[in-house]
Amino acid sequence: MPQRFHNNGRGLNIKVDIDTCTACQLCYDRLPQVFVDRGDGIPLVILRTTVDEVYQELIKVSEDCPSGSIILSWTE
Ligand code: SF4
Repeated sequence: MPQRFHNNGRGLNIKVDIDTCTACQLCYDRLPQVFVDRGDGIPLVILRTTVDEVYQELIKVSEDCPSGSIILSWTE
């Protein structure tokens, strides 16, 4: 079952599919303000800044995730 995380500053949901994540470390190496290693290589989402501050890089990291495990969606 994928974990789901919500960051409501802009109604942005950040979901990491832990079933497909390969623990490659890319997301928390590039965006430590958003992702942290939970201890086994799988990222937890802990937004330490505003969505606006990281928005462009978050899009790129989501696109660059080798397994497509970072899924961004927007709420109303
Ligand atoms: S970039 Fe993707 S595959 Fe790599 S650790 Fe992050 S979520 Fe997992």
